[in-house]
Amino acid sequence: MRSRRGFLGGAAAAGLAPAFWTHASAQARLAADPFRVGVASGEPLPDGVVLWTRLVTNPEALGAGMAPDRVEVRWEVAEDPALTRIVRKGDATARPEGGHAVHVEVEGLKPDREYWYRFTAGDHASAVGRTRTAPDPGADVQRLRIAYGSCQKWESGYYAAHRHLAADNPDLVLFLGDYIYEKAANPEEAIRLHPPTDAVDLATYRQRYAWYKADPDLQAAHAAAPWIVMWDDHEVSNDYGGDADRTPLTRDLFLKRRAAAYQAYWENMPLRRSSRPSGAKMPLYRALDWGRLARLAVVDDRQYRDGRTCDAVAEGKRIPYDCPERLAPKRSILGRDQERWLERRVSDTQARWNFLGQQTLMGELRVEDGRVSNDGWDGYPATRRRILETWRDASVANPIALGGDVHCFFAGDLALERGGRAIGTEFVGGSITSFGRPNKSLAGALLVNPHLKYAEGEKRGYGRVDITPKACTVTFRGVHNALDKASPVRDLAAFVVEDGRPGVKRA
Ligand code: FE
Ligand code: CA
Repeated sequence: MRSRRGFLGGAAAAGLAPAFWTHASAQARLAADPFRVGVASGEPLPDGVVLWTRLVTNPEALGAGMAPDRVEVRWEVAEDPALTRIVRKGDATARPEGGHAVHVEVEGLKPDREYWYRFTAGDHASAVGRTRTAPDPGADVQRLRIAYGSCQKWESGYYAAHRHLAADNPDLVLFLGDYIYEKAANPEEAIRLHPPTDAVDLATYRQRYAWYKADPDLQAAHAAAPWIVMWDDHEVSNDYGGDADRTPLTRDLFLKRRAAAYQAYWENMPLRRSSRPSGAKMPLYRALDWGRLARLAVVDDRQYRDGRTCDAVAEGKRIPYDCPERLAPKRSILGRDQERWLERRVSDTQARWNFLGQQTLMGELRVEDGRVSNDGWDGYPATRRRILETWRDASVANPIALGGDVHCFFAGDLALERGGRAIGTEFVGGSITSFGRPNKSLAGALLVNPHLKYAEGEKRGYGRVDITPKACTVTFRGVHNALDKASPVRDLAAFVVEDGRPGVKRA
């Protein structure tokens, strides 16, 4: 990786974006490499996939080093990594009003097979990415590997975890939020810096994504497999929910900020047009099928949630367990429409394994003084109950929740009552870089939350899920040292859920 100039150099570069452009045609004017943030794919279907890139010549500059002109981009998809057997190709236009992002929805591919792709613009070619399609809906699929991660705060470490995740050769990567962090860099705890301002508008959110995406290990993970992405709070603002965050912004100003953040998210992710934002709204929850083996429903617990509860008696986010407002049956972390949608997705499934991708720890977490957080599912226990009841009443096959956000690895049983029978199982996959919490405090948490069977807060990393018709094996992968780009990785723990037997069991 080229050396970073530090944030003073970066800020200077932002003010003095070099004139890469002449007055010739748009293609001829593309003098600098516009593929500095790499390529990505996502949203695999049996006959197609989304290809993504964003033209950026200077990842650190406000404006990405791009002049406000349209640029024609070509794309090609091949059956081999050397791109000799091209099966689809076409053109797309990168527009300045869209952040020079390109989203191509490729169709007409064969199910359940690998493809390779790249983009070209002017005389420049992108890196080659690998992707794959999903199997046919009725296919008897024998295996699926999903790697999942979350929380990749730039200043807190290097992306060694992404390098290892790519090397694990997953069929799918699931990213569960906190892809960027919106706050100004804090030089005191940073090992590398991004701009010393908060991301608050379209230009600064765009800049933050480009800055993160310049990382070669993150690019390698995107180029390794199709991604399914869901955001959490930091793609907009810390702990936001619905139409409010923790800053003093009025509702209107917050929704303006949210609209800018959603637009930048759309521009920077390999998503379908069906997820495109309109103002401060962006439809992101969706489901993906992998033959008859697995269904993955990914839910958005930020955009539609009811406001925080019990603030009057809160210590930070910690609220008393018996605060009555918390338990109100109509409170929802997903909103009514999304809850209904999810109910349908878990009722009409043919899949042997039914995954719920969601941002955080789904099970209850009481801390030692008996309090719970009002920023996650414990602030909305009625939604959790409704989902577990649906799993039980519809006899959903093998429900498994995958989560992130809490910067710890957790494995736990999901039950309707404390000490009750497990209806589902959950695995929270740590954080890529963001700081965790001491294992000493987590050991105390395991004692007061016996449904949680495993917790690890000191290691950074990701989760790997290996699914066959008979079993789902989840391996927590921890890097030795997230402050070291070249850090090795090891298995921290592995668990197996056998078909028809919910609950955490060591592999
Ligand atoms: Fe986080
Ligand atoms: Ca978060």
